[in-house]
Amino acid sequence: MSSDVTESHGVYIDGAFQDGEGVFEVEDPSTGEAFASVAEAGQRGVDAAIDSAREAQQEWIALAPSERGRILRDFADAIREHADELATVITRENGRPIGQSKGMMQSTPGYLEYYAGATDKIEGETIPVPGGQHAFTRREPLGVSAQILPWNAPVLLTARGVAPALAAGNAVVVKPAPEAPLGITRMAELGTEAGLPPGLFNVVPGGAETGEALATSDRVDEITFTGSVATGKIVGKAAVENVLPMALELGGKSPAVIFDDADLDDALGGALQAISFISGQVCFATTRIFVQSDVYEEFREMLLDAVEAMEIGPGADNPDIGPLISGDGLAKVERYVSEAVNNGSEASVGGQALDRDGYFFEPTVIEGAGDRDAISCEEVFGPVVNLYEFESESEAIRRANDTEYGLYATVWTNTLDRAHRVANAIEAGSVMVNQYAGSYPQTPFGGYKNSGIGREKGFQAIDHYTQLKTINIDIGGEGGGAYDG
Ligand code: NAD
Repeated sequence: MSSDVTESHGVYIDGAFQDGEGVFEVEDPSTGEAFASVAEAGQRGVDAAIDSAREAQQEWIALAPSERGRILRDFADAIREHADELATVITRENGRPIGQSKGMMQSTPGYLEYYAGATDKIEGETIPVPGGQHAFTRREPLGVSAQILPWNAPVLLTARGVAPALAAGNAVVVKPAPEAPLGITRMAELGTEAGLPPGLFNVVPGGAETGEALATSDRVDEITFTGSVATGKIVGKAAVENVLPMALELGGKSPAVIFDDADLDDALGGALQAISFISGQVCFATTRIFVQSDVYEEFREMLLDAVEAMEIGPGADNPDIGPLISGDGLAKVERYVSEAVNNGSEASVGGQALDRDGYFFEPTVIEGAGDRDAISCEEVFGPVVNLYEFESESEAIRRANDTEYGLYATVWTNTLDRAHRVANAIEAGSVMVNQYAGSYPQTPFGGYKNSGIGREKGFQAIDHYTQLKTINIDIGGEGGGAYDG
């Protein structure tokens, strides 16, 4: 194995890299070769990270809010200055085409900048109560936020959770996925260099055991989990056990609904982005495309031609489609597609793994799947979309909502009232009209149904990372207090 990152570059506590309890390897999915060995935090690392975070949080909240904002802005600048370096690391560890990784690194500082501007705008309210009393609320930080991350957009998703948590006055302990820890540890190091107090942003790399040590700790004050529904349920139970606020950002099976008056070129662009963004391994990826019958054939041909022409290759070569994350990820996609084909669906284009090193699967369009087939209901997490034909608006809404998930949806139509009606009727946390990816730090994001609990982004995240205190002062006038409970 060629290892160009040493094991000491793993556990990041108190503003420095530390030894871990063991070592794990990170693979390049474009080759299947391990290229780095990283220290695993384990229980000891998690405990030390929480100790460090608790201390640093006291230092952090002693700073003036505007000073905290200034440091977060410096952190954003540091990420922007190192955007190419971080993009290269991310592409190496999760296989994402380098152009996509660079694009993501352009958006990442925006989270820190948005929440840097929030530090001195976290306000309470004055409450009208009877008589001579003065009742008001304060939004106070929770303390230490535990953040457990997936591998598909590691640095961006870390910024999404860490920026509001820090802006609200908390410290964080971040557990990256074992497939992609390197971008996040480098990000934390840049944070310290930019002026975050050592210990405010700790990173505890490792697998499920390290994640469990963090999620079950009774010394953290909040848990933000981003990942699969199955793991989210485990983490959610641990949060309830310790009576902690939690945000669960889970999976999706997002519909696109394309009406016969839509701009089909735009709708095609959305479908291709869904397939190509990290090979479809995205929580909000469109995976079920419903097309109105009048334009089904026309759209189908456009889609099949475009998908056939997509280039596949190593992320560093910036193809349309990079590799899947791992051998297990590839086997899962192969299993879903072959089961669908065995059950009577057709892979109208694609449908096979590539016979080469690394974990590559052809971009694939499935036709003829039933709405209750596994490929229509479960997260495949690969460059695979299902195409379905529908007749009426009510049918499209019913079928789009026929899923346990509710993270994201797109609607394609040029009829204004229909756009509003359908967007309102779809059961999802975010609905885009005539565009695929229209999400910003200031627009709330999260899931209906099994796609999650709580909302990231926007000022909703500041509410999430604070707790509300009511203070009522007797200022000596008329009137007495009331007792509740
Ligand atoms: P995963 O659930 O397997 O792992 C997520 C994280 O949980 C990893 O860091 C993992 O090590 C950790 N973990 C595993 N077992 C644990 C345990 N028992 N206790 C605590 N932590 C544990 O998910 P993944 O494969 O890394 O990511 C893919 C999933 O993430 C997909 O379902 C995708 O839809 C979802 N996702 C959701 C969003 C969102 O914002 N809603 C964003 C990206 C990805």
